[in-house]
Amino acid sequence: MAKLYFHYATMNAGKSTMLLQASYNYRESGMHTLLLVAGHYRKEDQGYISSRIGLESDADMFRDGDDLFELVAEHHRHRPIHCVFVDEAQFLEDAQVWQLARVVDRLDIPVMCYGLRTDFQGKLFSGSEALLAIADELREVRTICPCGRKATMVVRLGPDGKVAKQGDQVAIGKDVYRSLCRRHWEEEMGRVDPEDFIGFAGG
Ligand SMILES: [Zn+2]
Repeated sequence: MAKLYFHYATMNAGKSTMLLQASYNYRESGMHTLLLVAGHYRKEDQGYISSRIGLESDADMFRDGDDLFELVAEHHRHRPIHCVFVDEAQFLEDAQVWQLARVVDRLDIPVMCYGLRTDFQGKLFSGSEALLAIADELREVRTICPCGRKATMVVRLGPDGKVAKQGDQVAIGKDVYRSLCRRHWEEEMGRVDPEDFIGFAGG
């Protein structure tokens, strides 16, 4: 039975590498995959997915309002698709997550979504919220805070190197993201003063 998967993580956890490797495994076995990537912040006509270790593949772009069931079904009519991969799945609309669920339920094609769970303010993205609600399988892609704990949060560093506490959910350009554990994220965001916890167990 096909399933809807959501692999979620913070920034720089190697999600795109995992996606491209998994797609490659299908193709190596003679099967066809369809790759989708968010087109919201891209100017090029042709989408692509690239990873930090140099893997790259062409991909179809999705934008707000696109019907992803129709898009997949059209490709599938032309040439059978064995798996759909979606990168930057946090940018999916709620309706698009449901369209992908129908790809699973009606076309019996597995859909593997990869994306961020929360933004730099610790809020769910729209696509992540819907995927967390209805995906069949949730898989956490792990990355580590400099302290050694699991990193579940992300901070955004502006051009001045300082942690951004407000602003748009997504910044385009030279901003840098760092993955942190929840404890250090709260400290970096200025939500708690570490000194307040001196003397408490484990503080
Ligand atoms: Zn930490």
